[in-house]
Amino acid sequence: MALLQISEPGQSTVPHEHRLAAGIDLGTTNSLVASVRSGVADTLPDADGRHLLPSVVRYHASGAPEVGESAQRAAVSDPLNTIASVKRLMGRGIDDVRHIGSRLPYDFVSSSSGMPRLRTAAGDISPVEVSADILRTLKRRAEESLGGELQGVVITVPAYFDDAQRQATRDAGRLAGLNVLRLLNEPTAAAVAYGLDQGTEGVIAIYDLGGGTFDISVLRLNKGVFEVLSTAGDTALGGDDMDRLVAGWIMQQAGIHDTAGHGHLRQLLATARDAKEALTTQTAVPLGIERDDGSVWTGELTRERFNELVGALVDKTLVPCRRALRDAAVRPDEVQAVVMVGGSTRVPLVRERVTGFFGAEPMADIDPDRVVAVGAAIQADILAGNKPDEDMLLLDVIPLSLGLETMGGLAERVIPRNTTLPAVKAQEFTTFKDGQTAMSLHVVQGERELVSDCRSLAKFELRDIPPMVAGAARIRVTFQVDADGLLNVTAEEQTQGVRSSIEIKPSYGLSDGEIESMLKDSMAHAADDRDLRRLREEQVEADRVLEALSAALQADGDSLLEPAERSAIDSAAEHLAAVRDGDDYRVIKQAIEAVEQASAVFVERRMNSTIRAAMAGHSVDEFKS
Ligand code: ADP
Ligand code: MG
Repeated sequence: MALLQISEPGQSTVPHEHRLAAGIDLGTTNSLVASVRSGVADTLPDADGRHLLPSVVRYHASGAPEVGESAQRAAVSDPLNTIASVKRLMGRGIDDVRHIGSRLPYDFVSSSSGMPRLRTAAGDISPVEVSADILRTLKRRAEESLGGELQGVVITVPAYFDDAQRQATRDAGRLAGLNVLRLLNEPTAAAVAYGLDQGTEGVIAIYDLGGGTFDISVLRLNKGVFEVLSTAGDTALGGDDMDRLVAGWIMQQAGIHDTAGHGHLRQLLATARDAKEALTTQTAVPLGIERDDGSVWTGELTRERFNELVGALVDKTLVPCRRALRDAAVRPDEVQAVVMVGGSTRVPLVRERVTGFFGAEPMADIDPDRVVAVGAAIQADILAGNKPDEDMLLLDVIPLSLGLETMGGLAERVIPRNTTLPAVKAQEFTTFKDGQTAMSLHVVQGERELVSDCRSLAKFELRDIPPMVAGAARIRVTFQVDADGLLNVTAEEQTQGVRSSIEIKPSYGLSDGEIESMLKDSMAHAADDRDLRRLREEQVEADRVLEALSAALQADGDSLLEPAERSAIDSAAEHLAAVRDGDDYRVIKQAIEAVEQASAVFVERRMNSTIRAAMAGHSVDEFKS
């Protein structure tokens, strides 16, 4: 943020050099670049006056790839070399990609680094490279229209993007030769575009319905600072689904049954999309489509009928809205402003239903396609130092809890989900065994109690811990998440200061669908998980008790215990060992108590003998104060 400012705002004696900066909305369907010129933020058009760049890249055996409109047109004739919706693949491992990609026509190959690649005429290309090609096109466009080299950019990402997805986006920027000043959450950018950061305080909802995804984010503005309270959404819900519904209706009306022809289906979808977009301003559109036999069907689609077709789909967006409000602990009527983002929010029925849900007219004055890029441009302008008297701290949120694996396969939450960024949290852990000199740390992400139900992010080791008795070492583990949402974990032994750290740069990511289902799972299993956690805790406690007892018996058992006492302790310990693997935590708990009772006398005698040893050669008076 802004450092010390020597001169008074507006009294700067040195004329300020304007640094060229841009905001980039790297979208699933369309991408845009915007910049602040003469104090006004706006998106930059290409030579033909088009602002939206379709996020589609076509690769050729030689020469530069084609990006945008012309590539999109080739999607039908050259599907394997034409990559669309690459945003869905960013930061994903090969398994995730195969899963998401099963619906996509691409050829996936895995590389040695674990990063998936797409086989094209130009060779094997990674999703990061595809995104870099889109960014390069936008960079060129911006530099041509601004007349100079860009000093820095802000790229927007969905609020739910995890570490790997953010890292991949940053890498794409770097690969495109951009200086990425900051990754900014899309909803935050939209709020900034409306100048909502200039207000005092209040809760804002950002409703973003794009081509293939739906996102709802709830932000709280407090003294000019945004905090993301919650996010939710559906990664398979958007304008494309409306197109499919309309195409299905056309097929039914026209009596087309066979869609084996890939090109034919694409044609139908394009017709459906045009009709949908026209219905935003018209109440009916004429339709004409060629059947396979060459005959032509003509008909009409009214807005009324269209609303019937997509009504359920639009209502489906209200489910995540409800969840986001619940997570943020606000009621619909507490939301002061609702901002519309994404091309599909132009659909009148969408506006109607959103108005109904929140009980207020949403903000839609800024073109919903461009609003995110505009907000990013405003932020880029400030970060580039063009407005030295303004500093804006934008806070974002962690989508899923971050934690560590502890004994018994339990996940210990260090940073809970929806914590605002940047965030630093530290927690102390200790050693489990006497003389333990190394500790392995397993960083996990998720809401469930058991590590096996969470996502593993990284593992690393802290070595050279000075040998101490179990529980004496103090190991401070710090989780630090920076403003871009990237995680760094450090473990430090407190007495000797040995430390070890890891930056989480996983070669795979967590899919947003997985985030959804992990959240759902954690709610559905909350009760089970509680019992399981108890069970694991008692098991860990049982192990600790048995371990400590056996060490103590080995040291002093013979000298301090009568044979009968010894056998009572042994049988309690055997019983505990026998029930330890059962599935009722109460039974284990009782057995632990039985061991403690049986060995109470032994513990007392050991304590006395330790005191005696410590006081040997001293008189009791020395210990009186
Ligand atoms: P993304 O964020 O996924 O890149 P956009 O915000 O650019 O997507 O939205 C693209 C979607 O918006 C497409 O499904 C497109 O058909 C739809 N769309 C664009 N203009 C209109 C319109 N006038 N009426 C209805 N839908 C529209
Ligand atoms: Mg978008």
